[in-house]
Amino acid sequence: MDRQLLEPSQMDGTLTYRYDSTGRPVALLPARCKLGRHTLGHAQFRAVVRNGEAHISCLACATNGADDVWRLAATAPAPDSAELSQERYFELVLHRANRALTAGRWT
Ligand SMILES: [Zn+2]
Repeated sequence: MDRQLLEPSQMDGTLTYRYDSTGRPVALLPARCKLGRHTLGHAQFRAVVRNGEAHISCLACATNGADDVWRLAATAPAPDSAELSQERYFELVLHRANRALTAGRWT
């Protein structure tokens, strides 16, 4: 039984932004998918912002019914542009990976 499927998924963190040289906000997205299996940008992903939440899902993971969606609280409407950040969510990704390892879910 996969417990993660039964529990509602929790917020993973807060969507962060940077400002480009013209002062426009750029959303920073995690560079790895939530399950840690894929580098987003190599794998396809989908990012949507609605109801104050950014959902970033990995299309490669979505097929096996896992909890593959990053849920990040968004404090502003989705900016026009977004980019992947290796560093920004590093601890978040690491934390997920460690939990997956302890739970024996790493495949
Ligand atoms: Zn993935």
